[in-house]
Amino acid sequence: MIVLDIILPIAVEGVFTYRMPQTSTVIPQAGLRVVVPLGKSKEVMGVVEAVREVAEEEHAEQYREVLRFPDAEPLVTAEQRKLWTWIAEYYMCTLGEVMRAAIPNALRVEKTSKTRKKANPTDKMLPAHPLNDEQLRAKKEIENAWQQKPTVLLFGVTSSGKTEVYIHLAQEQIRQGKKVLYLVPEIALTTQLTDRLRSVFGERLGVYHSRFTDRDREEIYKNVLSGDKYDLVIGVRSALFLPFSHLGLIIVDEEHDTSYKQQDPAPRYHARTVALMLASLFHARTLLGTATPAIETYFNALQGKYGLVEMKQRFAGLALPAIHLLDLQRAYKQKNMEGHFSYPLVVRIREQLANGKQVLLFQNRRGYNSYIECPECGYIPRCIHCDISLTEHKSLNPEMPSRLVCHYCGYSIPAPAVCPECGRGRPIDRGFGTEKIEEEARELFPDARIARMDTDTTHAKNAHEKLIRRFANHEIDILVGTQMITKGLHFKDVSLVAVLKADALFNQPDFRTSERGYQLLEQVAGRAGRAGTEGHVILQTSNIDNPLFAYLKRHDYEAMYAEQATQRQTFRYPPFHRIISITLRHREQSRLEAAARTLNENLVRVFGTRCSAVITPAIGRVQNLYIRQLTLKIEATASYTTAKAMLAAQIDYVKTLPPCKGVLITPDVDPM
Ligand code: ADP
Ligand code: ZN
Repeated sequence: MIVLDIILPIAVEGVFTYRMPQTSTVIPQAGLRVVVPLGKSKEVMGVVEAVREVAEEEHAEQYREVLRFPDAEPLVTAEQRKLWTWIAEYYMCTLGEVMRAAIPNALRVEKTSKTRKKANPTDKMLPAHPLNDEQLRAKKEIENAWQQKPTVLLFGVTSSGKTEVYIHLAQEQIRQGKKVLYLVPEIALTTQLTDRLRSVFGERLGVYHSRFTDRDREEIYKNVLSGDKYDLVIGVRSALFLPFSHLGLIIVDEEHDTSYKQQDPAPRYHARTVALMLASLFHARTLLGTATPAIETYFNALQGKYGLVEMKQRFAGLALPAIHLLDLQRAYKQKNMEGHFSYPLVVRIREQLANGKQVLLFQNRRGYNSYIECPECGYIPRCIHCDISLTEHKSLNPEMPSRLVCHYCGYSIPAPAVCPECGRGRPIDRGFGTEKIEEEARELFPDARIARMDTDTTHAKNAHEKLIRRFANHEIDILVGTQMITKGLHFKDVSLVAVLKADALFNQPDFRTSERGYQLLEQVAGRAGRAGTEGHVILQTSNIDNPLFAYLKRHDYEAMYAEQATQRQTFRYPPFHRIISITLRHREQSRLEAAARTLNENLVRVFGTRCSAVITPAIGRVQNLYIRQLTLKIEATASYTTAKAMLAAQIDYVKTLPPCKGVLITPDVDPM
């Protein structure tokens, strides 16, 4: 009798075995979609993991029967299934959870596959720009390094022309009949890059968007599966799950970017890590590119695990932007401030505007204020579901009152005119965000054309692209924005970039704070002076002595790395130790605490001082669930697999204890 081991999109460990229907004409094989019964009355779509023969009919009643096969051909390749298995093991989740992330929603419901479009002609590849000497050298070095190691880090300063090097390397692969995957952190932020690739690869470029509809995703999935539609796919981290064949190269652009890590739900994977695994399944090459490598990546390059190729000059001999620090403490004391703008900054901005240049203003926080407070009684409106203060958002329509919004769960209420607590005070703004900066800028520079770019102004489809095009066409003089304005954008007339308050970046209690602050500021700075225009950066800070600013001024990544590496070694952080964080959640605080205590005791027994004490995170309750955390630090030289198996056993055990029942326990491997 033939049975099928089937992956179902549920958070239960392992595969599920069903019997092959006797009347079926479909040839059973791994990778086929199947519809099977689950529980009393449900039907679910699964994917065949294996086909097995079991000894005869006595077992027949033990298995339920497959109901239907929607397709005649497999929808999931052997490499995909290997990748899923690896992800489930490495990231401590179930195969079903990986499947849920990997198969587009539209393909997880039953309908007959429509026939795919005809292949695009292959002779469409247009010549790229010829590389200059520096780029040619880098390309040669990358190819040489690949002879020794499958993974190479291209460490090239902002505007060194990395993109053009990627394009040439991709073309080489394509000429050899191979496919290329080009990963980017957030595709909505890469209009310019997509345009550039389109001009070279034409219709042979596939784009895998983060804001795609289910239908779009399904179409791209099928196009990739067909193998004859695209040569190159540019996409966000989930593009790793497409059904590639003949993959020759994976480019991980801006490899340091934290949005490569999936936080929730499982699988909580890092795209860079998974990319290396995917490449190895195809014996393909990987190129990690960035101006500010992740500490882990640079460490691996220095250790010789990855090849290392550098580009230290900007394209066409441009200088890196000059970085100037402005001491906010002194400016406030000397009353040298206009709102959040120091006078020297105001003067500089006016100068640039008078010269017909553009200015970028960076503020690391969206919303009008980070919170509001009653000046009479000190009352701060908070979310009713989360332990966090609400943020004021002004309405786009000035007639409408503003609202207070929870950035965690979206809960919102109208902003109160009078304090609901004491009934006397009028709640006022504390802290400041992009909206506030935009408003102040309008007053300070009334003749300038000003726009704002953050998640609030880019909700609408294409809103982001439009803003970027308008700015690139110089229809906007000053662009105020969050992180969004830092990523890979190229504007030729930007002569000045200012960071209104650089400190918020460095005041987080996280071991990656310095690294991230450095990366972010270097990337923001990198937007200045990219085409003939001299670039200047003004960082306003209350913490002028922070050594990171000295590194930034010199564009000295290596010095930042050296300092961070020493600290990481001392305090047992990556890359010297590996981290698994374990989050526990429950509605009742007492039950949660009992579970956290029990898990902690058990882990300490097994792992000793590698297990931290129980901590309550800064935001200790989200959507009515209380939260506690534990951290494991495992020596990089120890077996990660063994450690994870030991951890999994302890979690499973604790879950069975009556006082811990119902508590959600989720491990996050290599958290960020
Ligand atoms: P990076 O990705 O390193 O920040 P880019 O690839 O965006 O840098 O290149 C910076 C600028 O230089 C872009 O405007 C790009 O079009 C231009 N550029 C780079 N290489 C070439 C080349 N070989 N020929 C012409 N222009 C180039
Ligand atoms: Zn909330």
